[in-house]
Amino acid sequence: MRTDIDYAYELDAADPLAHFRERFVIADPDLIYMDGNSLGRLPRASIDVAADLVQRQWGERLIRGWNEGWWAASERIGAKIARLIGAQPDEVIVADSTSVNLFKLAVAALRARPDRTAIITDDLNFPSDLYILQGIADLLGSRHRIEVVPSPDGIHGPEETIKARLSGDTALLTLSHVVFKSGFLYDMAAITAAAHQAGALTLWDLSHSVGSVPVDLNGAGADLAIGCTYKYLNGGPGSPAFLYVRRDLQEQLFNPISGWWSQGRPFDFGLDYQPVSGMRRFLSGTQPLLSTALIEPAVDMLLQAGIDALRAKSQRQTAYLVALWEALLAPLGFTLNSPRDPSRRGSHISLGHAEGLRIDLALINEMNVLPDFRAPDNIRLGIAPLYTSFADIHETIRRLAEVVTNKLYKKYDRAPEVT
Ligand SMILES: *Cc1c(COP(=O)(O)O)cnc(C)c1O
Repeated sequence: MRTDIDYAYELDAADPLAHFRERFVIADPDLIYMDGNSLGRLPRASIDVAADLVQRQWGERLIRGWNEGWWAASERIGAKIARLIGAQPDEVIVADSTSVNLFKLAVAALRARPDRTAIITDDLNFPSDLYILQGIADLLGSRHRIEVVPSPDGIHGPEETIKARLSGDTALLTLSHVVFKSGFLYDMAAITAAAHQAGALTLWDLSHSVGSVPVDLNGAGADLAIGCTYKYLNGGPGSPAFLYVRRDLQEQLFNPISGWWSQGRPFDFGLDYQPVSGMRRFLSGTQPLLSTALIEPAVDMLLQAGIDALRAKSQRQTAYLVALWEALLAPLGFTLNSPRDPSRRGSHISLGHAEGLRIDLALINEMNVLPDFRAPDNIRLGIAPLYTSFADIHETIRRLAEVVTNKLYKKYDRAPEVT
């Protein structure tokens, strides 16, 4: 493979999605942004949406706004996200945070399997997901046992061990579809089928797959899912998350945070809770409308680009990055901490190095690259196919090599914590 910058320019010139980059704010053209998997870039359209929301809708329409689109926004945007994840429009709703949605759906699932005591997950899952599960087990009287199945190598998910651990006692299996450190991509259909054979419910965390990897919840028969909107969906810092409940399960499950937004007739202000039908039953209280509305512009762009085209570009780009790693960074002591097989990984690549933290600091402070770091030594490079260019990838690898070759990391000490 060619490692010259001209090759990157050729790949960009041939990229059918390249024009989407202009629809994002690029404030510093020299800054290489490789952290779209933690906080997506700002779509230009979101600036106008935000101005209209605040000045006209809030400022002029006042309380009337709730009947002019605010009340419906959670469902309207949920229905658009549904098209990215292989779900029906009435199976997805935007609400709360990923962590809170995990709480609501995991409690609902455990209550639907009252005679079973095992919750299965893996040690590649996002720590917050494990914390939520621990809190739930505590809340429900310590009746449940959380089985955290270890990955064989810290990179690949323990698919076969998970399948073997499923039993008639498994209430819930919950995993990140794409895991946050290595980018490993689970076979959702195969794992869901195995869970169903054991009579367990499945809850998938799509935070690192939605918007970069095709997800087929209906095709896999998945029961429940949650996901984040500020990563590949570019909803902005702290934008609310989404949740999915398969249609035939919606009436069987109960939201443990049974607030008035899930009440049948909320404006009757009756004193007894009667859950509404459909996805609104998984809402709790008033939704953060301003940040909910800002999810829509980028979701529209992702739908326009098409998830299959985005995946094709992402796979070409991760493969390009891996080839550059092999040629230029492996000789400098970097290891590949992501799956080699492009069909088994999402859209970010983790590179390890004994001096990973110091290299990361030098990359940010000396080289104008924003990567992401995950302890102990993972430099995560997120590729957002809507706006990451091949030149960005080439330049990242070149600057990483320069940091090590010229020992620019030496002036940083190992102590500080990076987020
Ligand atoms: C980013 C991410 C979250 C985020 O949860 P919040 O409640 O928004 O803080 C949860 N799970 C996974 C797998 C993530 O990648």
